[in-house]
Amino acid sequence: MSEFDFDLFVIGAGSGGVRAARMAAAAGMRVAVAEDRYMGGTCVNVGCVPKKLFVYASSYRESFEDAEAYGWEGQQGARFAWPTLRDNNAREIARLNGIYRNLLSNSGVQILNGRASLVGRQQVAIGDDTYSAERILVATGGWPQVPEFPGSEYVITSNEVFSLEVFPRRVLVVGGGYIAVEFAGIFAGLGAETHLSYRGELFLRGFDNDVRKFVRDEMTKKGTLLRFNHRVASIEKQGDGSLLVHSDDGSELQVDAVLYATGRKPNTKDLGLEKLGVVVHKDGTIGVDDNFRSSVTSIYALGDVTGGPELTPVALAEAMALVKHWQTGNTAEIDYNNIPTAVFCQPNIGTVGLTEEEARQAGIPVVVYKSDFKAMRHSVSGRDERTLMKLVVDRDTDKVVGAHMVGPDAGEIIQGLAVAMKAGATKRIFDQTIGIHPTAAEEFVTMR
Ligand code: FAD
Ligand code: NDP
Repeated sequence: MSEFDFDLFVIGAGSGGVRAARMAAAAGMRVAVAEDRYMGGTCVNVGCVPKKLFVYASSYRESFEDAEAYGWEGQQGARFAWPTLRDNNAREIARLNGIYRNLLSNSGVQILNGRASLVGRQQVAIGDDTYSAERILVATGGWPQVPEFPGSEYVITSNEVFSLEVFPRRVLVVGGGYIAVEFAGIFAGLGAETHLSYRGELFLRGFDNDVRKFVRDEMTKKGTLLRFNHRVASIEKQGDGSLLVHSDDGSELQVDAVLYATGRKPNTKDLGLEKLGVVVHKDGTIGVDDNFRSSVTSIYALGDVTGGPELTPVALAEAMALVKHWQTGNTAEIDYNNIPTAVFCQPNIGTVGLTEEEARQAGIPVVVYKSDFKAMRHSVSGRDERTLMKLVVDRDTDKVVGAHMVGPDAGEIIQGLAVAMKAGATKRIFDQTIGIHPTAAEEFVTMR
């Protein structure tokens, strides 16, 4: 008989926590998972899933417009009903919450509802109840971060945006990362007057420079009003409920909603970590070693709370690597190189590997292949949308070290290229690969 209530106690039923709990239970461990908000975490409830549904919703306007040139009459003038999208989204999320709950209980994981905190190196409290566990896994994710300024109480974040009572006709999105460009695309596509404010020269810092410029141009063509080198100074609520935004350059903007997408901070506050001697960095992330172990041997952490790439597949991979490590005793196997990622703005960005700038900085002798073209669909629709594809190749080894795309389905296309790059594909192998015609993707094997 074990001296502990559980072999593993997971805090947080998000992407990483659920996967770790299920895999550990399948491996024969007695597992509990505590969740204080929603089953499935950020991704399912206020992240990837609802975001993608809203991206789908926002794409119909252009489809209706393009359909006319293909002979479909009567598509113009379609009206968008926000309550339908909002409520169907909420229903789908509720369905997924149920699926996650069942997945856990069918795996034999005990679900404990409530906010958990650590009260000992092997003890977790939820309200008045205390549980002991041989190992504790902190998978508490992150939370939107909004700077404080006069009127910051009026802004919304990605947590609220999916359930707004009324569709905002005029929106200001603040930030220049994934969430900002995705939501600028969503609101513009749904028909809102959309402004994006970014504090620097050009948004999407960290992405390939050609990609950043290309997205700037495409978003501008689609009607998003981009304001770079722009900073919000204060926001005033008006009598009619609208928001008057003052910028530090003296300009003003009147909108119905201001969405802040200025990064996320890890959920480590009030967890009781520091008191137990767990190293928590200045930015709130938990310090872990290669096996996701914190500075306290019985306490582990993974996913967004550890400050790695904030992506669901990364949290899932970490969870699987950790449980395998517990089973085998071998070092957790996870490779953070060549993580593919997509930004679901319009058009989408798909990217894997090094940007041209990163490759040059690493001293790699770089050869760049680029293709900038109008997709076949728009030869008839007449839409002025272009697609960009780019390969970054190491001249010495001929290896493809970066693949970048801006265009429809970029995420779908880049996933396959990520496999090729993981396998060490050279440009010669790309060249030897026969294309699929007529597709946009074939361009990746025909660039010379
Ligand atoms: P989370 O999924 O955040 O789960 C943490 C869980 O812990 C939450 O359910 C929380 O309620 C719970 N919790 C926290 N504290 C406690 C406590 N003390 N007690 C009990 N429970 C607690 N990633 C992608 O790969 N693709 C995308 O398209 C994508 N889109 C996104 C869109 C948005 C708007 C956002 C915000 C994120 C998006 N992400 C996307 C990122 C992705 O959602 C996260 O990387 C992922 O959810 C991280 O998983 P996690 O397990 O670390 O944490
Ligand atoms: P990001 O870290 O991607 O971007 C934050 C943006 O806000 C940056 O442009 C940053 O500017 C800016 N910013 C930061 N602080 C301030 C401030 N005080 N005032 C003004 N601007 C500020 O965060 P997001 O919130 O967009 O997303 C969080 C993470 O979630 C992403 O990094 C990503 O990993 C994940 N995610 C993934 C998605 C996907 O896979 N498709 C979709 C959505 C989210 P600067 O560049 O100058 O620092």
